[in-house]
Amino acid sequence: MPELPDVELFRRHLDTSCHGRTILSATVADPKLLSGIDAAQLARRLAGTRIGASRRHGKHLFVAVGDAGWLGLHFGMNGSLLHLAPGDADPSYDRVRIDFADGHGLAYLNPRRIGEVVLVDDPDAFAAAERLGPDALDPKFERADFERRLAGTRRELKALLMDQAAVAGIGNIYSDEILFQARLHPSRRSDRLDAAERRHLWEQMRAVLETAVAAGAGAERLTERLPSRCLIPQRKRDGRCPRCGAAIAAAKFGGRTGYFCPRCQPQGG
Ligand SMILES: [Zn+2]
Repeated sequence: MPELPDVELFRRHLDTSCHGRTILSATVADPKLLSGIDAAQLARRLAGTRIGASRRHGKHLFVAVGDAGWLGLHFGMNGSLLHLAPGDADPSYDRVRIDFADGHGLAYLNPRRIGEVVLVDDPDAFAAAERLGPDALDPKFERADFERRLAGTRRELKALLMDQAAVAGIGNIYSDEILFQARLHPSRRSDRLDAAERRHLWEQMRAVLETAVAAGAGAERLTERLPSRCLIPQRKRDGRCPRCGAAIAAAKFGGRTGYFCPRCQPQGG
């Protein structure tokens, strides 16, 4: 599932390949993914607008489209964005396709058809309405705020990190990596961390996400691109801890399978 680093890479791909291009037409192959607008309305409002600035909040990407406001994209289970050069073959699973006046194009791909395409006036208002917490990499998001969120609830760490209302952008894969790097068991209670553990979790959350973005760790080639000290390449049967060599364990946490090192991340903490 695309998480913050993946969506940030989609954003950069969009910026470098489509910024400034004028939309000729938008074609919706799957109206089920639209929210609050129908296919004809979307096409009418996008036509003639230019791709402007882009923003990301957690796993949501927003693209300024002139008078039409902001096109908001959520990638669900396995969505992505693909720039199309003139003459490129039509890709598979393009649920929304934008054709530019200069022959280029942009495809919103979504094989599993879980996700959302919206047109909004204000991304901040959208994030508030969706009850999204602060973006995990937002420079304005401060450690004291994160620590208050940890202390203010009695939830297991993995579930809390994955809760988009607590902090936006982290899912199943990166919550495992962050907890591994912070040496915290996924089921530790958020309100029972000591000051050093809270601080370490904050620092590792930032470091892991920044490292993944810098490595260009898009979902498809994640395991090839991350440093070898990472847990993610070992999130599999027979995986080994890159730090101590112990067998990686898997267990259900709040309904999701999490991976961790039982030796580096002891339950008692
Ligand atoms: Zn270990």
